[in-house]
Amino acid sequence: MTVEDDGLIAGWYATPDGLSERWHDGRRWTGVTRPAGPRRRPVRGPMPPGWYETGDTRGLRYYDGRQWTRLTKDWQGRPAAMDSPHAYHRAHQVSRGRSRAKSRSSFYTWLVLGVVGVLIVSCALALTPGGAGDAVRRAIGIKGPQRILPAVVPSEASTSYAFMTTDSSGDPVRYDPCRPIHYAINPDGAPSDYASFIQSAVAAAQTASGLEFVYDGVSSDLWASRQNGTDERPVLIGFSDAKDVPALAEEEFGKHVAGVGGSLSVSVEGRLAHYVTGAVALDRSSFARLSSRGMVDEERAIVMHELGHVLGLAHVADPNQLMFADNVGKTTYGDGDLAGLAIAGDGSCR
Ligand SMILES: [Zn+2]
Repeated sequence: MTVEDDGLIAGWYATPDGLSERWHDGRRWTGVTRPAGPRRRPVRGPMPPGWYETGDTRGLRYYDGRQWTRLTKDWQGRPAAMDSPHAYHRAHQVSRGRSRAKSRSSFYTWLVLGVVGVLIVSCALALTPGGAGDAVRRAIGIKGPQRILPAVVPSEASTSYAFMTTDSSGDPVRYDPCRPIHYAINPDGAPSDYASFIQSAVAAAQTASGLEFVYDGVSSDLWASRQNGTDERPVLIGFSDAKDVPALAEEEFGKHVAGVGGSLSVSVEGRLAHYVTGAVALDRSSFARLSSRGMVDEERAIVMHELGHVLGLAHVADPNQLMFADNVGKTTYGDGDLAGLAIAGDGSCR
């Protein structure tokens, strides 16, 4: 009889199903088992200065000496998500339900534009909030960073727009207008005409927002790679399916989710600051169907809608806007979309 040396020290080890534990005597499994005990708290080191336990399972939160901030970490010390995308998604579904009667009568009723809520990541990045930095630079006579493109003044006043996330002062979370928004395309599963309608949609978003987009080329990155983190990677535009992007599986009354989009923000000193990257996932089967029918304007409109989410716009209940949750045949930004995108592009420089 041989004994496998599997390198384990004597102790209780969880079974793969997690329901029980079995005893390893340091040389072999003994066959002795017991029910799994209560889940142990994660092992952690001493608290860093200012960080305290939250008292629940969410990890640590930061006290800046005066008040609790929005900074949180999970037990591994990674920045923790503050708002669940699922919470946003529930709200989104409520508004979509209200708009159902309208959209059902339209030609494109099978097509639903979906959204994934902005995943907000708090972190302790050493960023200087734009306002304070600008004031200091002005006081000492140094020119601060300049916008790349002029701020956009919308030609029509409209209030038919909404933002996904605002900071504690009520300002929307935005991209830095002094830096280009780099983007990359993952063409895996894309229809053959993908480059033309994506570039055209990006150009429309750039014109409406006054934010410069720079194409970094093709990428093999996937949607999941943009769901957390704090580094500034290119915004990813890719084609996917429900296997990789569960939100694309949603379906009601025969309408399919054709795309999802959103951006990641980082907070500085408890204040929501800037978006750092984002992603758009386009449904492969919906785009294959549109492409086979030559409906390039609709393909472009879906990308424009998702880019609206990337730049921070939320859905509105007004079917005259492209940020209406369902595609009812509209293929250009409406006056409310344009007003919202102008504001989205008018953030502060870092
Ligand atoms: Zn949407």
